[in-house]
Amino acid sequence: MRVAVVTVGDELLSGDTVDTNASWLCDRLDERGVSVERITTVPDRIADIARVVNEYRAEYDAVLVTGGVGPTHDDVTMDGVAAAFGREVVPNEDAEAWIAEHGDYAVADLTEGTTHLPAGARLLPNPEGVAPGAALEGVYVMPGVPAEMKAMFETVTAEFEGEPTHVEMVRTSEPESALLDRIAAVREEFDVTVGSYPGDDVRLKVMATDAETAAAAAAWLRERVEE
Ligand code: AMP
Ligand code: MG
Repeated sequence: MRVAVVTVGDELLSGDTVDTNASWLCDRLDERGVSVERITTVPDRIADIARVVNEYRAEYDAVLVTGGVGPTHDDVTMDGVAAAFGREVVPNEDAEAWIAEHGDYAVADLTEGTTHLPAGARLLPNPEGVAPGAALEGVYVMPGVPAEMKAMFETVTAEFEGEPTHVEMVRTSEPESALLDRIAAVREEFDVTVGSYPGDDVRLKVMATDAETAAAAAAWLRERVEE
């Protein structure tokens, strides 16, 4: 399964808020063997949201959108997603019923538009807040508040599945440029992909579709690089 993540918010693009939702989602999806192939951040602007959602829903098995969901003037993500499908945003009866049953609010007291979702969308209830999410033909729309996004994602986790990869990390004090020969050799010797991440030391991430291959390749490398 190949997916894209779209995070929405002017505050992400100005550097006021760190995009922790994208990395959290990537981590959870990777764990499930789902391949995340794009993270794109767009402003709180209907046309930008619509354009990227439209492009990605054609390309990927699913698109996960977070942010810009709720009742304030700058929350336009539902409008953007609806526009991507050429639909209207309409009051959603399931959202009204869910909030009436589980929320601390009467639906009549909610800000106008809180329960409006793209026409034909399935409600994704918000276990941690008021603003509902939506799922529509592989596009999942979730709030930006990290706790709400996480709780909502847990309700649909089972819809994301792929082939899990097995990972082994090998650390070395050698500089990356010195390691090229052994990285090439381990890739020849074993059916693995290797990521190389320099920092204080170099972390080599060895990935394979079965645990034995990943372990054998990592052991092979550990014998041949300096600690
Ligand atoms: P919103 O859903 O856009 O109204 O955002 C609600 C809150 O969640 C704001 O405080 C945002 O800064 C925060 N938020 C939105 N998107 C993200 C994100 N991708 N990562 C972390 N926090 C976010
Ligand atoms: Mg926002």
